[in-house]
Amino acid sequence: MFDLIVKGATLPDGSLVDIGIRGDRIAEVGSIPEGVEAVRVIDASGDLVCAPFVDPHFHMDATLSYGVPRVNASGTLLEGISLWGELREIATVDEMVERALRYCDWAVSMGLLAIRTHVDTTPDHFRGVEAMLEVRRQVEPYIDLQICAFPQDGLYRRRTGRENLVRALDMGCDVVGGIPHFERTMEAGAESVRDVARIAADRGLMLDIHCDETDDPMSRHVETLAAEVTRHGLGARAAGSHLTSMHSMDNYYVSKLLPLLAESGMTVIPNPLINITLQGRHDSFPKRRGLTRVKEMQEMGITVGWGQDCTLDPWYSLGRACMLDVAFMGLHVAQMTHPDEMARCFRMVTEDNARILGRDGYGLGIGDRASLVVLDAADAIEALRLRADRLFVISRGKVVSERARNDAHLRLPGRPDKTSCRREN
Ligand SMILES: [Zn+2]
Repeated sequence: MFDLIVKGATLPDGSLVDIGIRGDRIAEVGSIPEGVEAVRVIDASGDLVCAPFVDPHFHMDATLSYGVPRVNASGTLLEGISLWGELREIATVDEMVERALRYCDWAVSMGLLAIRTHVDTTPDHFRGVEAMLEVRRQVEPYIDLQICAFPQDGLYRRRTGRENLVRALDMGCDVVGGIPHFERTMEAGAESVRDVARIAADRGLMLDIHCDETDDPMSRHVETLAAEVTRHGLGARAAGSHLTSMHSMDNYYVSKLLPLLAESGMTVIPNPLINITLQGRHDSFPKRRGLTRVKEMQEMGITVGWGQDCTLDPWYSLGRACMLDVAFMGLHVAQMTHPDEMARCFRMVTEDNARILGRDGYGLGIGDRASLVVLDAADAIEALRLRADRLFVISRGKVVSERARNDAHLRLPGRPDKTSCRREN
C-alpha cells in the first residue's frame, strides 16, 4: 500500500520505472505490479519524470518589482544596483513578503522546489532580511529555501557593511555572500574575499560570492576565492557566482586559474539569462557574450550549475521561475549543442544545482525525499527544447501543482487534429 504511485515514468537516464511513495519518502523504484493499492495513481506513461528543479542563485527581495521606481534604461548592472538602492528604501516587509510568496507560487508550478536567494544586508533597517526569513518560514513545507547574506554595496564601501552581514547571519541566514568586484579597490576586493571566507569557515557555513561579474579581464578575485577555499578546506561548500570576467581573460592566465579552481573543489554558478543581457554593454562590435567558461570548467571536473538570478526586477525585465528557460539560454550561449552537452544542461538545473546547495535526500532513489516533477516531454533534451509543461509537481509526497496537457487543436484538412510539438505525439 502506497500513498502515491507514479506509473510508467521515464527517468532522465532513459530507464522506465514505477515510483511508489509513502509519506514524504520514495519507498519503491522499479516495477510495481498491477493491483498494488495506493491512495492516488498518476499515469506518467511516455512522460519524463525528474527530481525537482533547483535554482542556486536568485534575488527574492527584489523579484516582481519591475518598473518600481522605474525601469533600467541603460540595461547595465550598475544602473540596476542604483535602482535597487532606491527600491529597498521604499519597500516594506509585507510588500517584499508578498512579492516573494507570489514568486514561490510560480516556482512550485514550474517544479522549482529548492532555491538559494541572496538577500541584501546593506540597509541598517534589515527589512529585506526580516522579509526573507519570514518567507523561508512560510514556504518551508514545500520549498527548500537557503538565504545568503549578501552585502550588495560591498563589505567595506559602507561603514556598516561588514557589521550588517554578520548581524544577518546571527538572525538566521544560511550562507555567507560577498561582492569583491564592487569594493573600492582590487586590494579591498581581495581582502573582502579573505574576510568572508574566514567568517564562513569559523561559523561552519556555506560561502557564495558574486565574483568578478564584470567584463574587466583584470578582475581576478576568483583566484583569491579559490585559494581561500583551499586554505580553509571549504570545498563544495563554497561557490563562485557569475565569474564573467573569465570570458575576457587571456587563455594563458586561465590555463593556470582553472586547475586552482578544480583543486579547491569549489562550485561555479553562471547565470546565463542575466549575463547575456548585462555583460558586453560597453562593447561596440565584436560584442562579448560575457558568460564564463562553462564547458572548459566541466572538463576539469568542476561542478557548474545554471542560476536564474533575476525575474522582473531592476536587472532583468523577463523571467518566470523556469529553470528550463535558464538552461535553454545557457545551452545556446555556451554552445552546448552536442546531445551529451544538452543532457548535461538538464542535469545542471537538477542534480548539479542540488549538489551546489549541498542538500541531502535529493534524487529519485529509494529513501530520497518524495519530490518530483512529471513533464510533458519524452526525455531531458525534449524537455529543454519545449521548456515542457510541468503536468504534476510533487513536494515531499504531496501533489502541490497540476496542469492539464495543453495540445493545440488543429483545424487542417488531412492533418492530425492536434499537436504538442513533441517528436512523437
Ligand atoms: Zn546575483
